[in-house]
Amino acid sequence: MGKPGRFLGYGALLVALPLVQVVGPPIVGRELPELAYYMMLLASGMALFAAVACLRVPAYERRTMGSLVLGLACWVAGMAYAIARSGTEQNLISTYVLFVSYGLPLLYAAVATRDEPTTPSRRLVDGALLVLLVILCYLGVRDLRDADGFLKSEDMVWVVIAFDIENVFLFLTFLIRTLASSEEKERRFFRLTTIFLGLYALTAGFHNHDELYPASPAFARLADILPTLPFTALVCLLHAGRRPRAFEPTQRLWARQLAAGFAPGLLLAAIFALSLGIKESQGTFGRVVLALAMLVYVVRVVQTQFWFASTRDRLADALAAVERVSLLDELTGIPNRRAFDQAFAERVREAARDGKPISALMIDVDLFKTFNDTRGHPEGDIALKAVARLLAGALRRPADFIARYGGEEFIVLLPNAPLDGAQVVARRMNRAIHDALLEYDHGIDGRVTVSIGVATAMAADAGDLVRHADQALYVAKSTGRNRYVAIGDAEVAVAG
Ligand code: GH3
Ligand code: MG
Ligand code: MG
Repeated sequence: MGKPGRFLGYGALLVALPLVQVVGPPIVGRELPELAYYMMLLASGMALFAAVACLRVPAYERRTMGSLVLGLACWVAGMAYAIARSGTEQNLISTYVLFVSYGLPLLYAAVATRDEPTTPSRRLVDGALLVLLVILCYLGVRDLRDADGFLKSEDMVWVVIAFDIENVFLFLTFLIRTLASSEEKERRFFRLTTIFLGLYALTAGFHNHDELYPASPAFARLADILPTLPFTALVCLLHAGRRPRAFEPTQRLWARQLAAGFAPGLLLAAIFALSLGIKESQGTFGRVVLALAMLVYVVRVVQTQFWFASTRDRLADALAAVERVSLLDELTGIPNRRAFDQAFAERVREAARDGKPISALMIDVDLFKTFNDTRGHPEGDIALKAVARLLAGALRRPADFIARYGGEEFIVLLPNAPLDGAQVVARRMNRAIHDALLEYDHGIDGRVTVSIGVATAMAADAGDLVRHADQALYVAKSTGRNRYVAIGDAEVAVAG
């Protein structure tokens, strides 16, 4: 079916039931007061059927869709029971319990955010809490009935207000979850349920208020016709959402934080609201159920806290591991340029505090391009690893720091080392590489060698330290390689 065909189908479905209600009575020639109830049953039944069918659709998450199924099932049961028991003139209290409890599974779908655990024990706790809330809900409205089980008319106004609050509360909760959703399935589900709940709040509110304060026959007719709309719209929305669409997650951080912050409070608010209906007349049972609900809620909070604590620890470990890896050079295993930048700032700060000089050595492997060209890159890599190991082995003090600066260049920081001390280290390094005899036909003395630029500064002038070491290295290269040169100093030493 093409797109226009689909939309035509949706349109037909939306108007079909209201149309039956409009043309039905004139055709049979008498009023049909029960027709509105049958239509509501039909519409909600279709929505339930559609939701059940969507349980197996990959575009929806089964857990949230299951909540919708459960909620709709309560609603359908309430309507079916009302029709079976009474006809339509009076309001059976048991149907009110079902109409109120339809919101509880939905509330659960909204409360279970991704920021919470989804273990079997959590599902058990949630299930128990759900049952307790339904019992509280029943107890709360039980006293509103007369001897035959019908709603006392003087209490009707409170029930209607309670419905309004529940419906608007659910709608707003789902709206926030829609805005907060960062994942495609989540967004799709919460968007369509938000539309449904918004329509439901409007049409149910209209219907209930009309029942309470009848206005004109025209309004009464409209109030009877409208309530099928949210359900038929839900059928269309569920059908339209079956195929995945391109999804661009919007980063609404405030909505995510709002949703995560509100989620636990919503359940507490539900327990509190239902507890208002528990009175002395319900005796011990009511208080026990309320206490149990609070207890289960506490268990739920503890579960969440445990989960948060372990998640936080795992994240901290993962972050530490990532940081470690991100600061190490992949090839040689010594710190990389990023690590050098951090270490440089730290060491300079310390040098400033101690009033001591800091030295840097810029080290470059000699004629390394030719090494790669003649021996190949893999062998070049092996030689670089050996050079890194030898250079690192030439450091003696714990505060000394070596990093791969890039390519075949290395850099060393020597805190608290004056120029002559730095030259001792440079000499040691030149010698260590030279004496290791890493074979290389085109190299100096037939082996791998390095040139080193040495520079020293007080912390205040450390900004130029690396540049000065680089300039010294340039001099070492241009004056024959396999040597170190200290800047501001005529000394040229040849190792080996
Ligand atoms: P000089 O003595 O003047 O420093 O000569 P050079 O050939 O070493 O200088 P140049 O900077 O021209 O060449 C650096 C070479 O280092 C280029 C590249 O082939 C080699 N090189 C850089 N990084 C790597 C690496 O990770 N692995 C290998 N195998 N070679 C690298
Ligand atoms: Mg180089
Ligand atoms: Mg080089």
